[in-house]
Order: sequence, then structure tokens, then C-alpha cells
Amino acid sequence: MPHLGNETIKAELGRASWKLFHTILARYPEKPTAEEREALSSYIYLFSRVYPCGECASHFQKLLKKFPPQTSSRIAASQWGCHVHNQVNSRLGKKIFDCNTIAEKYQCGCADDGDDGATEAETEE
Ligand code: FAD
Repeated sequence: MPHLGNETIKAELGRASWKLFHTILARYPEKPTAEEREALSSYIYLFSRVYPCGECASHFQKLLKKFPPQTSSRIAASQWGCHVHNQVNSRLGKKIFDCNTIAEKYQCGCADDGDDGATEAETEE
């Protein structure tokens, strides 16, 4: 994967990616099935392989070796995600995020039953 080379674009990509990453973890089932656990684990490893910033992907792959994805529950997964993001923050000299606030920060506006709660008018757009 090529280096993006532009710090602004790289940071923007990072912010968007972390947002999706943490929101997925915040929506992950509280009691996941074996299949759901496998799906999350695969997603995380594939994400680390296809992430477009090559330098970031390579560091993240090393982090995953040190801190393998925790998929046993929503709390385990979202706290793990917060922890690995903090590892990246620390390496980049950024502030450490308080992982106690993760559930309220990453909401998706979706219903809990998997239905996204969109109205008919919204789905027609
Ligand atoms: P970001 O780190 O992008 O965070 C966005 C927002 O998320 C913050 O404003 C805060 O509200 C919240 N947040 C912060 N920490 C946490 C946390 N621990 N848990 C939950 N929410 C949190 N950039 C590089 O220059 N080199 C790299 O090697 C590199 N590796 C990366 C690897 C991955 C997998 C990703 C997704 C991004 C990587 N980046 C890397 C980008 C970098 O992490 C930042 O996204 C970018 O520098 C923008 O930083 P930011 O200060 O705006 O906040």
C-alpha cells in the first residue's frame, strides 16, 4: 500500500476510520455468537491489511500481534478498541482518551434490534 504523504489527508482518514471502528465496536452484540466473534475478528485483521496508509497499517498490524482483538462481548471489544487507539495516540504523542466514556461517545442512531429505525421517507432517498 502506498504512503499518502499528505499529513492533513492522513489525519482526516484516521479520524473517519476511528469513528467507524469505534462505532462498530460500540454496536457489537453484548453476547456475541461464535460466528459474530469470527466476523469481528476477521474484520479487524482485514482492516489492518487494507488500511490505505501503509505506515499506519504496518504499525497497526504489530499492535494487533501484541494486543489481539477481544471479541467476547461488547464491553470487551469496545474497551479493547479504546486501548489500541490509545496505543496509537501514545506513539503519536497525543492525549490518552478516557475509555470510561466510550459508550456514550460512539452512538450510531440505530435501533437495538438491527433495524436502523429509518422511516419510509428516509429509505426512499
Ligand atoms: P484521532 O486519533 O483521529 O481521534 C479522533 C477522535 O476520537 C478524537 O478527537 C477523540 O474524540 C476520539 N478518541 C481519541 N482517542 C480515542 C480512544 N482511545 N478511543 C476512542 N476514541 C478516541 N497516523 C500517523 O501519523 N501514523 C500512524 O502510524 C497512524 N496509524 C494509524 C492507525 C490506524 C488503525 C488509524 C485508524 C489511524 C492511524 N493514524 C496514524 C491516524 C491517527 O491515529 C489520527 O487519526 C490522526 O492523527 C488524527 O488525529 P486526531 O488528533 O484528530 O484524533
